[in-house]
Amino acid sequence: MPSSGFKIGRIFGIDIVINITWVLILFLLAISFGELFRTYSTDPGGFNQPFPGGIWPWAAGTVTAALFFVCLIAHELSHSLVAKRHGVEVKRITLFLFGGVAEMSGEVPDPGSEFKMAAAGPGASFVIAGLFFGLLFLASYLDLSTVILLPLRSLVELNIAVGIFNLLPGFPMDGGRILRAIIWKKTGDLKRSTRISTIVGKGLAVVMTAGGLYLLFANFTVAGIWLIFLGVFLYLLANASYKQTLYNLAAADTKVDDIMFTDVPVVDAETTLTNLRLQYFGPYRLPVLPVAVGGSVTGIVSEKDLEGVASAEWDLLNAGRISKPIPVEKTVPPGTPLTEAMKSMKSFNDFILIVKEDDILGILSKQELLNYFDMRMKLQKK
Ligand SMILES: [Zn+2]
Repeated sequence: MPSSGFKIGRIFGIDIVINITWVLILFLLAISFGELFRTYSTDPGGFNQPFPGGIWPWAAGTVTAALFFVCLIAHELSHSLVAKRHGVEVKRITLFLFGGVAEMSGEVPDPGSEFKMAAAGPGASFVIAGLFFGLLFLASYLDLSTVILLPLRSLVELNIAVGIFNLLPGFPMDGGRILRAIIWKKTGDLKRSTRISTIVGKGLAVVMTAGGLYLLFANFTVAGIWLIFLGVFLYLLANASYKQTLYNLAAADTKVDDIMFTDVPVVDAETTLTNLRLQYFGPYRLPVLPVAVGGSVTGIVSEKDLEGVASAEWDLLNAGRISKPIPVEKTVPPGTPLTEAMKSMKSFNDFILIVKEDDILGILSKQELLNYFDMRMKLQKK
């Protein structure tokens, strides 16, 4: 999933992340708006005065692009807030191209929730369009300058366009999720409904790309490039989202016991830190290890804590000195679904201990997850 980017803020406990493509998009949008506004400086169209020339179209274009960007965040946030209300945790929103992706942990619980979550975004876009229409109405009533009126009208049109575009019935667009929810409700089969709506999504992407090529050759260069861009992007996104869904479904079927590392060595509390490194962390590559006093586990020692101690002291201190009690939130009982366990992991470098009545049965860390996803990937290719 194209989810890398930089964080610009946090709203309602959700990180807002900007994909690097967005810098380019913002720039292209500002120029597109500027270019549009500039044409109104020679012919005012339906407005009673022309758009001022010089720097004005570009300045207004940049402001409009920035406002549009806020509208997209509102669109994504409305998905996330509805998701949260239905018990789906949203970690962050990544914005790219004409929308974004609300990154949810795991899959949606039921078709009804999916339907509401998906519909919330386009709904928000239409409401925002309505708000800007109200402002436009007020501004024209007050006979304000075209510098105000034209950007407002553009924002009305663009938000309507975003609402409609996102309602296209191809997964993973909102309309595709709505379609999936409807098929899911009818068939009870999430996998099949995802596959069908993904095929529709890819079909739409191909049509868009073809339409873009046609426009390109018909000399509507800018519109053509936008459409090709969107088509290719949507095709890749449909593929990635489908795989993600299969992963999530498979992870929901898998129990921690199936993939955990079971031969976890127990470190005696008397072990020096030098030996802890040489005999344990070196060969085992686990982020934490259980520490025992006289055979019974009393806590854990982490590689991070070991690295926090100056190496000059490694021969003088023992594992018991830097061990900590087992954090309850880092333990799950055997039989826990993998998706459930992964929710307790903050990152890929984190860990989960599988514990039954003070016995550490196994550990789940980066290596186990990598092996698991690698295996799933190979199975899918067959
Ligand atoms: Zn949306």
